[in-house]
Amino acid sequence: MIESYDMSDRRIRKVLIVGGGTAGWMAAATLSKLLKNNYCDIELVESETIGTVGVGEATIPQIGTFNRTLGIDENDFIRRTKATFKLGIEFENWGRIGDKYIHPFGPYGLDMDGVSFHAFFLKHHGEDYTVDTPEQYSLQAVAARQARFMRPVNAGNSPLSKIAYAFHFDATLYAKFLREEAESRGVARHEGMVVSVNQRPEDGFIRSVTLEDDRELEADLFIDCTGFRGLLIEGALQAGYHDWSHWLPADRAIAVPCGRVDPLIPYTRSIARDAGWQWRIPLQHRTGNGHVFSSHFTSVEAAQDILMNNLDAAPTAEPRYLRFLTGHRKSFWKKNCVALGLSAGFLEPLESTSIHLIQSGIAKLLQMFPDRDFSQVNIDRYNRVTTFEFERIRDFIILHYHATEREDSEFWRYVKNMEIPDYLADKIALFESYGRIFRENEELFNDTSWFSVMIGQRLRPRMYDPVAEVQSPQETAERIANIRSVIATSADHMPLHADFIEQNCKAPDLEGV
Ligand code: FAD
Repeated sequence: MIESYDMSDRRIRKVLIVGGGTAGWMAAATLSKLLKNNYCDIELVESETIGTVGVGEATIPQIGTFNRTLGIDENDFIRRTKATFKLGIEFENWGRIGDKYIHPFGPYGLDMDGVSFHAFFLKHHGEDYTVDTPEQYSLQAVAARQARFMRPVNAGNSPLSKIAYAFHFDATLYAKFLREEAESRGVARHEGMVVSVNQRPEDGFIRSVTLEDDRELEADLFIDCTGFRGLLIEGALQAGYHDWSHWLPADRAIAVPCGRVDPLIPYTRSIARDAGWQWRIPLQHRTGNGHVFSSHFTSVEAAQDILMNNLDAAPTAEPRYLRFLTGHRKSFWKKNCVALGLSAGFLEPLESTSIHLIQSGIAKLLQMFPDRDFSQVNIDRYNRVTTFEFERIRDFIILHYHATEREDSEFWRYVKNMEIPDYLADKIALFESYGRIFRENEELFNDTSWFSVMIGQRLRPRMYDPVAEVQSPQETAERIANIRSVIATSADHMPLHADFIEQNCKAPDLEGV
């Protein structure tokens, strides 16, 4: 017989989120929205003395689902976080110095006769993509190059009805925005520094945390959002860490904002440097900049010089210095503690995936929400699925470094020649045979993304997919030319990104910017 929770009293009565950065407030806002009818108490503790990492400003389109789930009005969110729209990422100097390509959101062209568009693209273009690049077949990429943006409109089969986009936003304002959402739904916030984590002697489960002023906060379920330190998952529960720095050797970042520049581009820029890469993230009021680099291959002073000498405008604050170790906890969920955000693991922000991993972690936690028995089979599934997700994103990020012709610095010689994970080696081998790409088991990045980076960084298949022979070369040429022209015409209908923001969602306090 199925037991009732009224009878057994095994429900979670209280969740304590420890940490109030992006991860903590995303968790608080979602749990308070979806665990309705006072299902359980939700509390959050954070320390203003410690603060947040304060970076994390570029996202991928899945954030739209997150906002819709919370019932957030998008224009309101954009105004409040001084956000801009994002249609993709431009990679510069990655395959060779001087190369540039956009990894856009959304698909390239159209699949035809059940065969992927990229098969026809490869058939049509042979080896030469210098004149006609895949970008011409992505509305997002064409619009990005022209600094245009609009939201999708109801326009039948037109690519204008399928514009995929994400945001760049101010991370501190985003956490504040989510905090208001969460507190309006009854989440109680405690200010204070956690100084000890108290475990039950009989099974090691966390019973409570103690704050500096001796307050003790108890809960049934703890969510560790304490950032890199992983105060609960590592400090108390010693989950262990899988270190991936041999594949992704960047271990430092320096971040600094500078003034806004025009035109207001709707994409992130990622520029490869001697021992890492530099980001530029356009916001309504400023540009976020950072240099991610490996301290094994360059010095902090040299990295800082590269960053400060390559800003588009004068810096508006002092640089911030961050250290990290790429990898993830061996257990994301252990006993009655789930780690989200930087306490769960770290993958460098090359494809803006960390905030997505928080969102996805929250969604999985809700799918496998425990009772006070904390069934191990649920915990194991959560850990298995999350590990798969991290590993597949890892492989995609490694691709950016490994698929290069650069040998101009020790760093690039290392990443070009290093051993890579088997899964990635297999993906590359499949592509190099017939230009085929498969998305497996719900991995985050689809064939468009892989195609974009592989072609953008000069990987070439030996043959195109034989099934593309279903069309004659002439038919392929005509249909491809037609797609290209529809995309060019569609982009002409889009307003400038800056104008779209001005008319729909301009932040109120931008005077003087
Ligand atoms: P934090 O922001 O570090 O927050 C930790 C919280 O825990 C704080 O509130 C702190 O007060 C609290 N805390 C810690 N210890 C205690 C204690 N003892 N007592 C009480 N409270 C405590 N992600 C993206 O998606 N896109 C990007 O473009 C991107 N860029 C990035 C660039 C860099 C250089 C880095 C390092 C990260 C980037 N990320 C990006 C990742 C993103 O910043 C994080 O995923 C996100 O900010 C979540 O951080 P967090 O909330 O886990 O941790």
